[in-house]
Amino acid sequence: MQPLQYTRVQTAAEAVQAFSGASGQARYIAGGTTLYDLMKLGVERPTHLIDIADLEGSTRIETQGDRLFFGAGARMADVAEHEVVRRDYPVLAQSLSKAASQQLRNMASVGGNLMQRTRCLYFRNGAGGIYPCNKREPGSGCAAIGGLDRGQAVLGTSSSCTAVSPGDWPVALTALDAVVEVLGPSGIRMVPIVDFYRLPEATPHIEFNLTPGEVVTGISVPKTKAGRRSTYHKIRDRESFAFALASAAVALSMDGDRIERAHIAIGGMVTRPWRALETEAQLEGQRLTYDHAIAAARAAFATARAGSQNGFKIELGARTLADAIMIAAGRSA
Ligand SMILES: Cc1cc2nc3c(=O)[nH]c(=O)nc-3n(C[C@H](O)[C@H](O)[C@H](O)COP(=O)(O)OP(=O)(O)OC[C@H]3O[C@@H](n4cnc5c(N)ncnc54)[C@H](O)[C@@H]3O)c2cc1C
Ligand code: SF4
Repeated sequence: MQPLQYTRVQTAAEAVQAFSGASGQARYIAGGTTLYDLMKLGVERPTHLIDIADLEGSTRIETQGDRLFFGAGARMADVAEHEVVRRDYPVLAQSLSKAASQQLRNMASVGGNLMQRTRCLYFRNGAGGIYPCNKREPGSGCAAIGGLDRGQAVLGTSSSCTAVSPGDWPVALTALDAVVEVLGPSGIRMVPIVDFYRLPEATPHIEFNLTPGEVVTGISVPKTKAGRRSTYHKIRDRESFAFALASAAVALSMDGDRIERAHIAIGGMVTRPWRALETEAQLEGQRLTYDHAIAAARAAFATARAGSQNGFKIELGARTLADAIMIAAGRSA
C-alpha cells in the first residue's frame, strides 16, 4: 500500500499553503466522488490529499452586484435545488439535476464537477500498462483511436486524444459566459470559462489552464435577460445515472419570435465544453422556426470528425441542439 498524507484545511489560503508545502504528488479533495474512484483504479496516485470539503464560506450561493456567485464547495444538489437558480437560470439547475445520482449530488461539489476527468474507457481502466493512453501516460499512445470509440468526441479531437469532457455543469456555465475564480501561490485570478479548459492537441494530459496549487474558490455568471429562457437538454443511454452522449445548453433573449441573442454550448461529444458560435450567429436576428433551428444546429458540427462507431453523434448532436433551441424559445422570460 502506498503511504498517503492527509491534511484538512479551513480556508482557501491554507489550502494553497498546504499544497505548496506538500512533498510528492498533492491533490485537493472535495466530495471525493471522482478522485477516490480514480485512486482505486490506480489512475490517480497522490501521495498527499488536501481536504477542502469544508472551507469557510465555500458553500455560498449569493448575488454579487450583477452576477450570481457559487462557492466552489457548494454541493451540486444545493445549487440544483436553489430557488433563484431554478427560476432565473433553469439551464444551470437542469445541468446539475440531470448529472449523476441524488446521492452523488448530495456529496459532490460544483468545483469538483468542473475538474472531473474524462470517462474514456481506456483512460480509466488501463492503469498498469494494459492500454496506452496519452492522457494517463504522456507519449504512450491512444487506445481509443482505432479502438472502441462509441463514446468518444467528434469535435475538438486531435491525433493524440479523442476523450469527451464529461461534466454537464461546465457546458451550461460555458453558454452563460461564467468566470472561474481561482486562488494560487500568486494570488487570485479570474478565468473566463472558455479559457479554463484546454483542447487535447499534443498534450492531452494538461486539461486545465491552472498552475500547480491553484484552487478553485468560486464560479460566477452574469445576470442576463436570457437566463430565464434557458434549458439544458441531455441525451444518454438511460435516463438517470449516465453521462451525456449529446447535450446542449441554450439561453435566448427574444423579442416576440425573433431571437435577439443566443448563448449556446454543447457537450457529450466534445473534448472540452464547446461554445457553438456558428449556431449563435445563424440564429441571432432571425425569427425562429424548427427548420431554422436545425440548420443553425448543423452549423456547429461543420468541422466534426467521427471514428468508426461514433458517427451517429453528429446527427444526434444537431437534433439535440435544435430541440433545446425550441424548448428554450418556448419558455416564458
Ligand atoms: C456513477 C457516477 C455517475 C456520474 N454521472 C455524472 C454525470 O452524468 N454528469 C456529470 O457532470 N458528472 C457525473 N458524475 C461526476 C460527478 O459529478 C463528479 O464526481 C463530482 O462533480 C466531482 O465533485 P467532487 O466534489 O466529489 O470532486 P472530487 O472527487 O473531490 O475532486 C475531483 C477533482 O477535482 C479536483 N478538485 C475538487 N475541488 C477542487 C477545487 N475547489 N479546486 C481545485 N481542484 C479541485 C480534485 O483534486 C480532483 O482532481 C458522475 C460520477 C459518478 C461516480
Ligand atoms: S482518447 Fe484520450 S483519454 Fe482516451 S485513451 Fe486516448 S489519450 Fe487516453
